[in-house]
Amino acid sequence: MTEIAVLSGKGGTGKTCLSAAFATINKNMVVADCDVDTANLHLILQPEDYIEEKFVTGQKAVINFSTCTNCGLCVNYCRFDAMAFVKGKVVISETSCDGCKLCARVCASQSITMVENDKSRWYVGNYRNGKLIHARLAPGEENSGKLVNVVREQARRVAKETGCEAIVIDGPPGTGCPVISSVTGANRVVVVTEPSNSGFHDMKRLLELVANFNIKAFVVINKYDLNKDVTASIETWCNQQNIPVVGKLIFYEPVVHAMVRCKSIIEYLPDSEISKEIYRIFDIIFNQN
Ligand code: SF4
Ligand code: SF4
Repeated sequence: MTEIAVLSGKGGTGKTCLSAAFATINKNMVVADCDVDTANLHLILQPEDYIEEKFVTGQKAVINFSTCTNCGLCVNYCRFDAMAFVKGKVVISETSCDGCKLCARVCASQSITMVENDKSRWYVGNYRNGKLIHARLAPGEENSGKLVNVVREQARRVAKETGCEAIVIDGPPGTGCPVISSVTGANRVVVVTEPSNSGFHDMKRLLELVANFNIKAFVVINKYDLNKDVTASIETWCNQQNIPVVGKLIFYEPVVHAMVRCKSIIEYLPDSEISKEIYRIFDIIFNQN
């Protein structure tokens, strides 16, 4: 099975647009949306989810006010500034609580219990070209890398069941823990960049990270015509690093119109020049041995 991760060094480069186009080229596709902090591929692919599961990200402290004596000991001990007196009563900030359990240990009246953070979810759904595995990390919750692992495990399971030979991974932007979870075990990486100094800089950082995993990397320059000088610099640098620039996509407003209509550009304007270029890129990345 081949796993192809579509990544970008920073947000807003067009990574999800390209992933959506790849996801709608063939039938019997399996797509893993691993951008769990800001998942939005489901907005284009509109899956009908048939599995919805809780994902426990950790624990948080909860106070039983019927036994709490308001002694304030827990507030003094909390190292994460998650506890404070508000109008004479101890209040815990859900987003600041690290789940360290210290407050529960020091509370003499045993008024604090630890409960699971289980607001995050992962899903498996049918969309028009196959299966989408996606997730939603609740605001302020951590362990996005572990949630990415769950999404990828489910994508492999579904691909095996359906006989799909290639999984498209829409990875998160940046170079953090969820990106590492998205590339570990992938066979190929497509880095989508844009011709700006920040786009160039972040692309280099991401490719340096990918090089540590010894995975074949490709570069796609999106909106390349907006700054042809920086595009030329990106191409020169990639040539020096022996990283193929497999495609350059023009800035094309209908890409946005397609998204508004919950379609990929391949579906919206299949005969456009940009769609033909995406077909060509897909062929290079997915069909090479
Ligand atoms: S340590 Fe226990 S009793 Fe004291 S304020 Fe905290 S929860 Fe209430
Ligand atoms: S579990 Fe730890 S971080 Fe959370 S409120 Fe208690 S002491 Fe603070």
